[in-house]
Amino acid sequence: MDPMDPTPHYLETELTDLVQRDPAIFRFLQDGSLDGLWYWDLKEPDNEWMSDQLWRVLGHDPDAMEHSPRAWQDLIHPQDLQTALANLDAHIADPDHPCDQVVRYTAADGTLRWVRCRGIVIRDDQGVPHRMLGAHNDLTQLMRTKAELAARVQELEAAQAELQVSNQALRRFVSIVSHDLREPARTLRSFSDLLERRCGDQLDARGAVYLEHLQGGSVRLTEMLGALTTLSRLATQPARADQVDLDQLLREIVDDLAVAIAGSGAVVEIAPLGHVQGDAALLRVLFQNLVANGIKFARPDTPPTVRVFRERDAICVQDDGIGIPDTAGRRIFAPFARLHARGTYEGTGMGLSLCNQVVELHRGHLDYRSTDGHGVTFVVTLGGQGLAPTSP
Ligand code: ADP
Repeated sequence: MDPMDPTPHYLETELTDLVQRDPAIFRFLQDGSLDGLWYWDLKEPDNEWMSDQLWRVLGHDPDAMEHSPRAWQDLIHPQDLQTALANLDAHIADPDHPCDQVVRYTAADGTLRWVRCRGIVIRDDQGVPHRMLGAHNDLTQLMRTKAELAARVQELEAAQAELQVSNQALRRFVSIVSHDLREPARTLRSFSDLLERRCGDQLDARGAVYLEHLQGGSVRLTEMLGALTTLSRLATQPARADQVDLDQLLREIVDDLAVAIAGSGAVVEIAPLGHVQGDAALLRVLFQNLVANGIKFARPDTPPTVRVFRERDAICVQDDGIGIPDTAGRRIFAPFARLHARGTYEGTGMGLSLCNQVVELHRGHLDYRSTDGHGVTFVVTLGGQGLAPTSP
């Protein structure tokens, strides 16, 4: 059928005839799509026929209700009655003004029900308005759900505000703690070094082992405090939105990791990555940690291969190392989380936590796929406004 053809579809014509001929069709349409129908005599305004449905919605016996506007006007909210009557008058004066409003009724059990009420004026042969035809739809469930949703949103906003306050307090705490602890950590480190230099030869074998532990502990403490300071710095500053050339960034990272790469015999392959919008300094922290982990967590017998590549909207850092067991889940992103005993693989356990923080600051998501013993693929998705990777 030609969509521009103004003649009605033959099925529409047929249905119109059917509605006129068979009252069952009209009843079906009414019952199936409406919660009430009304037909008002404007010349004898005490007369208004109303179908049964609205009375049932309101919990009244339809047979006990009179066919008069008084019946519904006694139950509608007074404010909504005014709105409805004003719209009705305006529509009679100007058919372009819609007679369409959502009004509140008090049901027989005292509860409030929301009803959409629409009407159109019908004129006689002289064009004088003489009837109003209208329809009701019960919107109570919809309005209740809407109110519940609004309440939930409010609760969520309140919880979010609370979380922000406690996050800020936590960041301040981390920042103060990491700063204040640095000084004693430095003292510990320099005096243990001094002890080794000045008195190392006076120590017996056991003393030398103790000193070694002391030095190792103080080095790790300094590193952990450094990582904590970085974390609190990241968390307190908003991410910039630079145009970052990832290929260039990764080349620089590979240069910075030259010692680790040479030491392990690692191969680092960088596929074309293109540009992303983001904070260049933070993205450096992110990819440096991921590539360094790929090199560090190598299988003992095989020099590692680390590949960095694009996968749709994500950037992946993949290695063929020891992998991460299924049981680890997102625990590896927690601060100071390590899956290995000290001595097997060194580190503070802060790297992935920093990575996760960086990705979150970019309103993105950091995840990984792994089979224990068969490498890991970290998947970085940078989200948020304008932070999706641009094409290579
Ligand atoms: P670190 O800063 O000490 O390297 P991370 O926070 O980066 O620690 O990683 C946390 C833990 O997750 C590591 O101790 C290690 O067990 C595991 N892990 C991280 N990256 C890898 C990887 N590429 N392969 C295997 N395990 C990994």
